[in-house]
Parts: sequence; structure tokens; C-alpha cells
Amino acid sequence: MTFQNTREFAQQLDAQDELKQYRSEFIFPQHNGKNVIYFTGNSLGLQPKRTKQYVDEVMNDWANLAVEGHFYAQKPWWDYHERFAEPLSKLVGAKPSEVTVMNTLTVNLHLLMVSFYRPTKTRYKIICEEKAFPSDQYMFQGQVHFHGYKPEEAIVEIKRREGEHNIRLEDILAKIEEVGDELALVLLGGVNYYTGQVFDMKTITKAGHKAGAIVGFDLAHAAGNIELQLHDWDVDFAAWCSYKYMNSGPGNASGCFIHEKHHANKELARFGGWWGHNKERRFKMEPQYEPIVGANGWQVSNLPILSLAPYLASVEMFAEVGMSKLIQKRNQLTAYLEFILHEIDNEIQGTEFEIITPANQEERACQLSVFLHGQGRALFEYLMKNGVITDWREPNVIRLAPAPFYCSYEDMYEFGQILKKGIISK
Ligand SMILES: *Cc1c(COP(=O)(O)O)cnc(C)c1O
Repeated sequence: MTFQNTREFAQQLDAQDELKQYRSEFIFPQHNGKNVIYFTGNSLGLQPKRTKQYVDEVMNDWANLAVEGHFYAQKPWWDYHERFAEPLSKLVGAKPSEVTVMNTLTVNLHLLMVSFYRPTKTRYKIICEEKAFPSDQYMFQGQVHFHGYKPEEAIVEIKRREGEHNIRLEDILAKIEEVGDELALVLLGGVNYYTGQVFDMKTITKAGHKAGAIVGFDLAHAAGNIELQLHDWDVDFAAWCSYKYMNSGPGNASGCFIHEKHHANKELARFGGWWGHNKERRFKMEPQYEPIVGANGWQVSNLPILSLAPYLASVEMFAEVGMSKLIQKRNQLTAYLEFILHEIDNEIQGTEFEIITPANQEERACQLSVFLHGQGRALFEYLMKNGVITDWREPNVIRLAPAPFYCSYEDMYEFGQILKKGIISK
């Protein structure tokens, strides 16, 4: 499609947008009486209007039923999390028994590493990406320390080549082969949080397995954003947060995937709790722990129902639309944003910014990271003051994520106009 940098053209794309009615299903912060232009759905998704009803329902059941709500609430609490299995498994390409919801992301990655990072004297190394999300870096350090290793001997980072912003697949595969027999675990982000680069999880998983390692992914920026086929790709485990693209609310619960092939393995170490125990016998309060066969067997505590309620609202919304329609719009909307950025860059003298996210659609999703050259933090602040919510990452990057559920083409056009004014008036 040939794009045009005009309001009429953007409005025309909005009129043809199959998902356009969903924009009005979200609550936008207001700026001068208008919706803000929201580019930070990769950090905290907007609140769906239907969410409140899900939370109110739990509040009312708690008020009216108190402890009886565990079994007699409209959606009984004792197995509330099981309502996620069907819709969530579709979103991540899994079988219903392979997914569960619990805790928060970093906590879950730690719990999963209890089972899936089992270093031996000779096989103890972890491969991760250079400049992984800080929480992941701290987690790797903590895990290797816990097992008695030093980070510098056990953690192997895949580096970017000099002058390049993204990590090459060939370099990931070469590193896996190089570490070979010493490799215990490959754990990467499915989508890099900083650049928006999407990794080829299928190929990486295959290479990791060939080296005899376990392969897991942190899907914080992937869940609700990209097509995932975790089961078919033979990924061992994965976890994601739900408050980014999945719009479940600040700090909310995490989802986990554990491949079916590990479910019946009683040898796997795990940090158990009563919610992972045989469901039929849970309330018999017996001393012998018998984990549920399935991802639910990694549950620890009874679940925070008030947190799960907004997550359920969101998962049901995703199931209603389906990832393929979201991805279709995501591709066109991101491409339109890229076009607008190039148009603005062409209109002004000198290179002011550079898109560091891969230009290839296969290697990116709903995010363009823009490295500012002639500009600095002042431009970011100008955008904020003018109702454009982006985020700033040191040293000089603005991340723009036009979430397809609620961002419009006209938002992209409008953003371009504000950006141009901001650059000219610097
Ligand atoms: C956002 C994000 C996290 C956040 O972890 P929490 O435990 O939910 O605070 C972790 N990893 C990555 C890659 C992220 O992008």
C-alpha cells in the first residue's frame, strides 16, 4: 500500500479498520479534553471499560458470600484460574494444560528456573542476550549465585556486533554451538524490550536442544503482541506479564507455559505449595505432595482473585478478536508510523533520528525504537506536554508502541505533526 501523510488518508484507513470499534472500549487519559496519543501499551496497556465489571463482581461476591465465594461465587474462586486455560492457550500457541496464571513475571521465571536450570559440574552455563531487561539480569545473577557459581563463569551474553543495534540470529546460533556441552539453559526475551527486535524462537529452540540444553523465553513484550506457537516450537518453558500488551492493570499477574513433555516428570525439582497439589485431594490437607499433571502443577499459593479478574477480562477480549486480526492491524499501523517518521525526517534538514528496530517486518512487531541524534530528552518532554505519551530510555531512545487494539491511524498522523513542531521549535 502507498501511504500518504495526510489526515484524510489516515481517517480513511481508520474507517476501513476492522478493529475500530475496540478503540471506544478503552479508557484514554485526557489532554486538553482529547484522548492522548498513547504509545506506551508496551509498558502499561490502557484499561478496558469492561474490566471494572469483572472486579466489581468479585467485590460483590466477597461482600455477599465471604468465604462461601470460594465455591459459590459467580465464578468460584477456588478454580478461577482454570478459566484462563482455553483462551490463553490460544494466544500463546499451547495446549490448555500447558498454561497457567500465577504470581508475577520475575517470580515465575525464578520458580521455573528451579525446575529448568539444573546445573551440573560440566553443564552449568546460561545463554542470554546482552543488555537483557534488568530484572532478568538480576535474576540470572541470583540463580547462578544460588547454585554456587560466579556470574562471569556461568552467564554468557550474546553481543551485538560493533555499530549494530540488533542481535543477529547467526550469532545466537554460533554462541549456542560454541558453548555446546557446557550449556544448561538458553533464556532470551521473545521480543527485545529496548529495540523491539523479535527473535526466531523456533530456530533458537531447535539449536538449544541440539546442544543438549533447555530453552525458555521471557515473553513480556511478546504475549499479546506476536504470533506464538510455543507447543509446536517445542519451547520448554516461558512466562510473561499481563500488564503490557495484555492490558490487565499495573503490576498484574503473570502467565506461564510449561511444555507437556515435562508435566509427568516427578524428578523435576519444584518449589511446591498447596495450590499445585492434586485438586481433588487439596482440602484433605494430607502431608504427601502430589503435583497436578500440567502447568497448574507449578502453582504455589491460592490465587489473588482481585488481580485475576482484570486479567480475565483482557484475555477474553483477546480471544474475542484473535491474534491474527491484531497482528494484521499491528503490521499496517507500525508500517504507517514508520512512514510518517521517514516523512518528517525528510522534511527537516539533517538526520534528527534513526529507527533502530529492524526494518524487516518478520523481525519486529508493535514497537519502533527511535534513536534521537540531534535531539535529546527535551523532545520527549515536548511530546509529553503535547499529549503524546512515549517512553524514554537512556541514553537517547524513545520507544513508540502503537497498540493495535486502541491506537488509530489518525493518531500516527497527528503524532507526526506534533513531532515536526517539536523538532523545528527546539
Ligand atoms: C517488563 C519486563 C519485566 C517485568 O518483570 P516484573 O516481574 O513483572 O516486574 C521482566 N522482563 C522483561 C523482559 C520485561 O520487559
